[in-house]
Amino acid sequence: MRKPLIAANWKMYKTPKESLAFLSEFLPLVKDHTSSEIAIFPTMSSLGYVIEATKGTNVTAGAQTMHWLNEGPYTGQTSPTMLESIGCTRVLLGHSERRIYAHETDEMVNLKLKAALEHDLIPVVCVGETLDKRQSGLTEAVLCWQVACALNGVKGTSCGQVVIAYEPVWAIGTGSVATPEQANEAHAIIRREVAKHLGLPCASGMRILYGGSVKPDNVASLMNQPEIDGALVGGASLHAKSFHEIICNAT
Ligand code: 13P
Repeated sequence: MRKPLIAANWKMYKTPKESLAFLSEFLPLVKDHTSSEIAIFPTMSSLGYVIEATKGTNVTAGAQTMHWLNEGPYTGQTSPTMLESIGCTRVLLGHSERRIYAHETDEMVNLKLKAALEHDLIPVVCVGETLDKRQSGLTEAVLCWQVACALNGVKGTSCGQVVIAYEPVWAIGTGSVATPEQANEAHAIIRREVAKHLGLPCASGMRILYGGSVKPDNVASLMNQPEIDGALVGGASLHAKSFHEIICNAT
């Protein structure tokens, strides 16, 4: 049985003060929630504050990206060891906004995934096709390619914690959510590809989240699909009430 994971990606929103204000409203709302795991990915400047404020609660925090090396002359980067040292337990990898604006390649995502696993950081690897690729009938090819590259050299024995997020680029921040059937089909493709690389037990235990215009009123129909194990929420996670509603409606 895969326990749902509902995660907030705050992208480049919220100062530390705003992050803490969110938590003081949000943590009491979810304190008795046990049917899913809850995670928040704040900006790097808020991450340490969010980790401290969520200690001993049922909410965990993670970074939105990281480098794969432990240290070096890489201005602006944060390493896995640095994340570990502040008590960070999760990391988002390969978000399409990182791929588009920071030119992150499939090879970099693979290096980051292997580094995350070495450091016991739970990775959420994002994959997803653009509208152009979907309209050209290339959704399956793109997803299989991205998954295969990300998992290259990863062993089935170390995959226990890996999470994949299916985020169709055309659904991110657009209000055009994938239909539950479209999302379920994409998740099934991803799971088959994972099985090819890491084996069936690993694939059937792996959580695959859906992300892209998830809202309180569409999350239940997505979560009703057998292949969908959670949600990665952008815009609707910025307000404590709507993120809480998503968590309640998801399970
Ligand atoms: P929206 O929920 O704003 O569409 O963003 C999705 C996303 O990119 C989460 O990582």
